[in-house]
Amino acid sequence: MDLDKLINDRIRDVPDYPKPGVLFKDITPLLADHVAFAGVVDTIVNHHGRGTIDKIVGIEARGFILAAPVAYHFGAGFVPVRKKGKLPAATLEENYDLEYGAETIEMHTDAFDPGDRVLVVDDVLATGGTARAAVDLVRRGGGDVVGLSVLIELSFLDGRARLGDLDVHSLVTV
Ligand code: AMP
Repeated sequence: MDLDKLINDRIRDVPDYPKPGVLFKDITPLLADHVAFAGVVDTIVNHHGRGTIDKIVGIEARGFILAAPVAYHFGAGFVPVRKKGKLPAATLEENYDLEYGAETIEMHTDAFDPGDRVLVVDDVLATGGTARAAVDLVRRGGGDVVGLSVLIELSFLDGRARLGDLDVHSLVTV
């Protein structure tokens, strides 16, 4: 079966979740299909090539699920970016605006060695606020961000415009 078709078929659209007007991209059917899940991980690794990345940053919470196997297959380390208050040691933090309200994400100050080549991974790129904040955190922490890989890009929200000339790689563009 065609991998792109399989991946698309395993993403479930849930209307009006978590609030009216949002079409939520539910990746749980994809995660439950080992061929689709492995295909996503392999596609992300192949886009960059093994040995080109030192650390994979995953964004809480669905980003963790994709980023951890990607890190394993790259032969790279894994670094979590989490919602405020979840990480135990000293952190850097970034604030960003959501459609309603604001969000703060954090990362440990010692997550990187100087010059570490870093790939940021998340499930969905929507407005780009989350990815922008994560990229800024990595750079402040001494990492060299080589790209952002997302499973799904909501292109009508133009999140990639907030990421400058970064290599933004998406498997599914809506
Ligand atoms: P944004 O900061 O607007 O790019 O939003 C990205 C974050 O919100 C990602 O971590 C996604 O998990 C989540 N997200 C935003 N929109 C959706 C959507 N339509 N379906 C699923 N997750 C979404």
